[in-house]
Amino acid sequence: MQTEYDLIIVGAGAAGCSAAVTARQRNMSTLLLFGGDGALGKARLVDNYPGLPDLQGPALLDALRKHAAQMGAELKRGLVRRVMPLDGGFSVLAGNDLYFGKTVLLAMGTARVRLLPGEEELVGQGVSYCATCDGMFYKGGRVVVVASDAEAVEEANYLATLAHVIYIKEKAHDTALLDRAIEMAEGKPLAFRMQGEQLVLDTTAGEVLADGAFVIRPAVAMTQLIPEVKAENGALVLDGKLMTSVPGVFAAGDIAGSPLQVSKAVGEGNVAALSAAGYLMRMGAKKKEDPV
Ligand SMILES: Cc1cc2nc3c(=O)[nH]c(=O)nc-3n(C[C@H](O)[C@H](O)[C@H](O)COP(=O)(O)OP(=O)(O)OC[C@H]3O[C@@H](n4cnc5c(N)ncnc54)[C@H](O)[C@@H]3O)c2cc1C
Repeated sequence: MQTEYDLIIVGAGAAGCSAAVTARQRNMSTLLLFGGDGALGKARLVDNYPGLPDLQGPALLDALRKHAAQMGAELKRGLVRRVMPLDGGFSVLAGNDLYFGKTVLLAMGTARVRLLPGEEELVGQGVSYCATCDGMFYKGGRVVVVASDAEAVEEANYLATLAHVIYIKEKAHDTALLDRAIEMAEGKPLAFRMQGEQLVLDTTAGEVLADGAFVIRPAVAMTQLIPEVKAENGALVLDGKLMTSVPGVFAAGDIAGSPLQVSKAVGEGNVAALSAAGYLMRMGAKKKEDPV
């Protein structure tokens, strides 16, 4: 299984698929990771795409994904939970699979994530979004899993091999496959806080005390995905070539700001992929110049 790519694109909507087509034209090995169908999948009628009136969003999305695949991009379903800068590129965690990209393009649209009060402040200090990355820190301890969909069941079952797990639902979902050793908590999660050294999750049914918490939702906030990327007033800081404040990480489409429209997303996907190709060439040239 190939796990190393010139470009990993997070999101297979209008921007991501357009970027994949251009990246393949530039002969970059390209992986498109996507959690779902995004905004384009919900747009029943797109009547302002130049030259193609009366387009249906889902049909356009299907055509874009087919085109990207025909050009040789690999498409895989998987919610990306973390992008970590590494020497010479980035490791990208999707589900429990780890990939390496020399460059990364963020094309995740505008999915908003509502965090619990106290959650953001405690990330890295008790609150985590990735059982595979951080589960081992709680070996033999007690963790709470705040779960929004069935994907959390798999994560909780993995954590149960390491620690005592308390499971609480943020949104209703099927838990039939949950390990029997896992304790199910009543109520809905309300807020995180520290009480001395102790992590506390306040719920509508009382307090849950734990050494750590894993929050598993079907969408990931930018601040969790790659905290190194700078944003100002809720918008990503991008240069004229759509590169973020982290060299090698680009952004396109709705995530790059308004107008939130298909034609803009497609155009930016093209620009960002060309910028990533140029970045890789410059990096290659730089390596050749390096004294041995
Ligand atoms: C109801 C509706 C009607 C609309 N009508 C129009 C219209 O008529 N004309 C127009 O121009 N625009 C319209 N839009 C806007 C248009 O759909 C968006 O501007 C366009 O789809 C943006 O493309 P994108 O690729 O940036 O994001 P999206 O199309 O939202 O794609 C985002 C992709 O990222 C994936 N993703 C998100 N987070 C992750 C993650 N952590 N890991 C992996 N994958 C992830 C999603 O699953 C999806 O595949 C409409 C939108 C809606 C919702």
